[in-house]
Amino acid sequence: MAVLVTGGAGYIGSFVLRALAARGIDAVVLDDLSTGHRRAADGWPLEVHSCGDSERVAALMERAGIDAVIHLAALSIVGDSVREPERYWRHNVGGAEGLLTACRKAGVRRFVLSSTAAVYGEPSQLPIPESHPLSPTNPYGDTKVEIERRLAQAQASDGLAWAALRYFNAAGAMPDGSLGEDHPVETHLIPLALRAAATGGGGDGTELTVFGDDWPTPDGTCLRDYVHVLDLARAHVLALDWLDGHPGGSLVCNLGGGEGTSVRQVLDAVRRATGREVPHRMGPRRAGDPAVLVAAVDRAAAELGWRPERSDIARVVEDAWAWERRRGHAAP
Ligand code: UDP
Repeated sequence: MAVLVTGGAGYIGSFVLRALAARGIDAVVLDDLSTGHRRAADGWPLEVHSCGDSERVAALMERAGIDAVIHLAALSIVGDSVREPERYWRHNVGGAEGLLTACRKAGVRRFVLSSTAAVYGEPSQLPIPESHPLSPTNPYGDTKVEIERRLAQAQASDGLAWAALRYFNAAGAMPDGSLGEDHPVETHLIPLALRAAATGGGGDGTELTVFGDDWPTPDGTCLRDYVHVLDLARAHVLALDWLDGHPGGSLVCNLGGGEGTSVRQVLDAVRRATGREVPHRMGPRRAGDPAVLVAAVDRAAAELGWRPERSDIARVVEDAWAWERRRGHAAP
């Protein structure tokens, strides 16, 4: 068995490669390296081009004897997607379309999609079940809804078996600090808070801005559901097992820790992990942020036998801190 991992040089993809290897599953990486890093996929065959080039992807699938795809390659910065919706649509939907065409040509019948909680938009029910209406509040979420739709179409037309894994807030790193998130532009709370703590913030621009403390939540800051990247990666391997047992079937599954953690609680965890204060100031709300996002995770447990094992916030932040220290973002 060999799996094509698109976006395998990215944050979550690089952990998926290692989870596959731990199960003895060979992988080939397809990544355009627009945001990923060659070194994150070191040790795996790497093809550097877009998923949208269906001829080339089909040839690669045939050459490498691919029998399943895990598709993570995508643009994923919500704010950018609002500014550049066409680029997001072209890259994300166009990429998935090329990949599906290639699957059809090469006879690949199993597909795992990296999807997102952004497909739900403002929740009308908490914790959010997979049956919640799909109503994204940004073009990034729109692209993922569209890709899930196209998977359902490919299931009807070609008998494709697929699983869409809707991640909540992916975070954390390899506990020894050897691998973690390394985005060209960092927008996520945990790495930004760790960097603010590491550098002492102040006048050098690394002070963290908390996006609102007047939300209808217990401490006034937003609640999010953080899920450790090692837990996420493991779920992809379980999804392949599920597809093996359900030819032509489909599964949509939330992946989250199942608990809400506030921005203030994250800052407390950063303080404890680093032994340093987190220089921060209160700012206005960020447009498009829901007050609370928490996953219902019972389907992942029932269908995949998956439970988060390392997703408590203390662990997540400690591991992310090991990574930030090792890559030199922390002062000695
Ligand atoms: N957040 C914040 N300051 C920052 C970045 C994020 O207060 O500089 C908040 C954000 O409003 C949200 C939470 O932290 O409530 C997690 O945001 P992140 O961007 O990490 O992930 P998202 O939930 O947007 O996917």
